[in-house]
Amino acid sequence: MRATIMYGAGDVRIENIPDARVIEPTDAVMVVSRACICGSDLWPYNQREPSDTGRRLGHEAIGLVEAVGNEVRTIKRGDLVVMPFAYSDGTCTFCGHGLHTSCVHGGFFGIEGGEGAQAEAVRIPQADGTLFKLPVDKDDTLMPSLLTLADVMGTGHHAAIVAKVGPRMKVAVVGDGAVGLCGVIAARRLGAEQIIILGRHPDRIALAKQFGASDVVSERGEAAIERVRKLTDGFGVHSVLECVGLDEAMRTAIGIARPGGAVGRVGVPQGETMPASLPAFYNNVTVGGGPAPVRAYIDELLPDIMEGKIQPGKVFDRTVGLDDVPDGYRAMDKREAIKVMVEP
Ligand SMILES: [Zn+2]
Repeated sequence: MRATIMYGAGDVRIENIPDARVIEPTDAVMVVSRACICGSDLWPYNQREPSDTGRRLGHEAIGLVEAVGNEVRTIKRGDLVVMPFAYSDGTCTFCGHGLHTSCVHGGFFGIEGGEGAQAEAVRIPQADGTLFKLPVDKDDTLMPSLLTLADVMGTGHHAAIVAKVGPRMKVAVVGDGAVGLCGVIAARRLGAEQIIILGRHPDRIALAKQFGASDVVSERGEAAIERVRKLTDGFGVHSVLECVGLDEAMRTAIGIARPGGAVGRVGVPQGETMPASLPAFYNNVTVGGGPAPVRAYIDELLPDIMEGKIQPGKVFDRTVGLDDVPDGYRAMDKREAIKVMVEP
């Protein structure tokens, strides 16, 4: 089968590799109908050291189950399923508490040495706990929005939950990538009264407004902090969704949180230490977050997608076949595309 392999920064290739197959009795094999490229894939795309072995990529997909191991009980051949970016057994103490990304039998797709979904097929560990059967067929027009349940919509929602977004609150979203845009959807959905998007790309800002952003702040650093304060009676916002991961973004996030506010961070941190520790301390700002347990949120978010209340699939502004995945990486990296969908 064909699959995406990254050998080093900027070096993404489509290659023939052995077919995905059931290895453990709890595995399934999923034939990929739709996958996509993630903003987090751009970190290795910019930084990975060259190597001869390469790594599989892709951690978001919808597909048809082709085979299951003999201990798989709830998922069947022929099911159309969405695959969250982390696999999980659904039964351990952490899964029981809705933190599937800490599953004791879990792991992540698209990491060094692991399975990747930007491919014709992918092996799914812990199939019963990981996969979520979708109530549609594979050509449904809702497919782009349903695909966001694998990561970006669930991740934006997680940022909003950790940032304690609630009715009538003032919210800021740092970052205008697909996750930030889904964060706007999530904040609106949870009843926020004011949603400030911090970003500077016109196409993304336009989409943020469509999704419910009320204010746009395109400044950076101190200037951004000042602008947000001006927009919020001088105090800052109750909730900040940090959807970037760079130190400057966290500094801004803490700087615009009002005393007693909360920052939900879902951008993968690119630094070892947490910036702005002192202002966070003196303002009693809660900073939390991490890899979103998107598997836990599908039950809640799916009905809103099915009913058309939210349309996170609008973040996809380009679709490529498997052969053009390398160009998809280039386009996202150059900010020519917000998010690229892959139809193998
Ligand atoms: Zn678990």
